[in-house]
Amino acid sequence: MHHHYLTIEQRETLTNLICSRFVPGAQLEIALKRLHQPDYGVCIDCGKDIGFVRLKVDPWALHCRACALLPISASDHQTTLA
Ligand SMILES: [Zn+2]
Repeated sequence: MHHHYLTIEQRETLTNLICSRFVPGAQLEIALKRLHQPDYGVCIDCGKDIGFVRLKVDPWALHCRACALLPISASDHQTTLA
C-alpha cells in the first residue's frame, strides 16, 4: 500500500540524480527502469518507505534506515574470515 509514495517531483529529482551518475547507455536504462518499479523505495525487509532523504543520498538503498543499522543476519554472515 506504500507503493508509489514518492511524488512526481521527488521521482524527477532522483531521475536527474541517476542521470548525472551514469553515462547514457544500457546501465542508465536499467537504473531508470528500476526507479519506476512499484517496489522502488520500499524496504525489502520491513516493507516501509525508505524515505526520500535517504534515497537522495543512495538511490539504490534497499533497506530503510532502521533495517540498515541492524546487524547482518546469521545466514548472510561471512564465515570465511579468520
Ligand atoms: Zn526496513
